[in-house]
Amino acid sequence: MDVRYPPEAETYREKVQAFLAEHLPANWQGIGALGHEEAAAFTEEWRTTLYENGYLAVSWPKEYGGQALSPLEQVILAEEFTKAGVPQGGPNDVFGIQMVGNTIIQWGTEEQKQHFLPRILSGEDRWCQGYSEPNAGSDLGNLGCKAELDGDEWVWTSAGHLANWIFVLTRSDPSVPKHKGISFLLVPMDQPGIEVRPIKMISGESEFNEVFFTDARTPKDHVIGEPNGGWAVAMTLLGYERGEAAATNPIRYRNELDRLIALARDHGKTDDQVIRQRLADAHIKVEIMRYLGMRALTAYLQGGHPGPEASISKVYWSEYHQQSTELAMDILGLHGLVPTGRPPASAFQTDDPGAPNDSASWAGVFLNARAGTIYAGTSQIQRNIIGEMVLGLPKEPRADGGSWSESSKR
Ligand SMILES: Cc1cc2nc3c(=O)[nH]c(=O)nc-3n(C[C@H](O)[C@H](O)[C@H](O)COP(=O)(O)OP(=O)(O)OC[C@H]3O[C@@H](n4cnc5c(N)ncnc54)[C@H](O)[C@@H]3O)c2cc1C
Repeated sequence: MDVRYPPEAETYREKVQAFLAEHLPANWQGIGALGHEEAAAFTEEWRTTLYENGYLAVSWPKEYGGQALSPLEQVILAEEFTKAGVPQGGPNDVFGIQMVGNTIIQWGTEEQKQHFLPRILSGEDRWCQGYSEPNAGSDLGNLGCKAELDGDEWVWTSAGHLANWIFVLTRSDPSVPKHKGISFLLVPMDQPGIEVRPIKMISGESEFNEVFFTDARTPKDHVIGEPNGGWAVAMTLLGYERGEAAATNPIRYRNELDRLIALARDHGKTDDQVIRQRLADAHIKVEIMRYLGMRALTAYLQGGHPGPEASISKVYWSEYHQQSTELAMDILGLHGLVPTGRPPASAFQTDDPGAPNDSASWAGVFLNARAGTIYAGTSQIQRNIIGEMVLGLPKEPRADGGSWSESSKR
């Protein structure tokens, strides 16, 4: 692990800081300081500013509208944006730019790159992810959403509310072993065969959805990689989903811990020995997160790609976050039962930088943190990956040999 940045990092950092100073309003405190509607309007406008100034999709090659930034510059950019409390894009850009865009760059044909990438950048196409099914969450390879070629189109026989495109894993050949008959398809959502039903979450919000496909259609050439060869494409995408947090998480969780300590002070709990001990434990864990981040970044800056080690970071932040938000609720005591003030704007990870230290913020994040150990792969699945792929332990016994159509009946 190398804890220092090379000198050229500072030159780029100054450039990003100058851009932020020029484009953010005076007295900017972070997007969390805005009300929900104001924050949504700011994000939309900010995304346009990023697009016009070349700060979106910065890792993409220049010919596809990116900036071809070096890994070091990408890391500095992510750090400075997180410190300033501004988003790196719009709400669907994690799916559009980070996941499917990067995957198209790696696996797509030239026509697919020319068609889809500019539309992702301009915001015309907003993406969501259709991976999990009721019997294929952790066991993703078991997916059953069936697609068949009918002439020139694929047809189905079996943060979606903001998206107009979905990337889906489909069972295109049930007669071969389960990982071999999957195709990765790009599907327009604006058609009668696709129905989006919001799921009400424990927090009362509806930030994710069920998507139903009934005779939905997409053109034949909207398959990424080979037909029936979608599993390798799907795994590439998961690497992008799980990998990028090393630079930003330590900053986000440090900010949140500072708010937590302020909360303890406000509620007169800093003399309580048990609370003090739990705050110290949280401090230790955030420091460990920082070192884990440095280890991942060192490997990344030396040319490595986010691999199974990203699972260590995923388990660590998601389990830490349940502990730190439980501590917040214990500090709040009865105030936590009657939350007041501004709830978090998003169901994912910490509240936004600059958010007021309200009981509604902590109660919302406490509830949302329950999902952190489920989405993007549960803690148990991450531990299996760490055991098998990082530590080299024996693989889990499997009972699903033979064709998918046979093994799915077992
Ligand atoms: C807030 C939220 C947002 C989401 N967003 C999306 C999205 O945008 N797109 C999308 O496609 N999906 C999304 N998901 C779905 C998510 O990927 C799945 O919920 C997740 O992969 C777990 O699958 P499951 O819910 O089917 O649980 P199951 O796979 O049924 O697991 C149930 C329990 O069994 C354990 N388990 C299962 N297999 C093993 C094993 N082999 N060894 C040990 N333990 C095991 C699990 O850890 C878990 O505790 C989202 C989920 C949440 C909660």
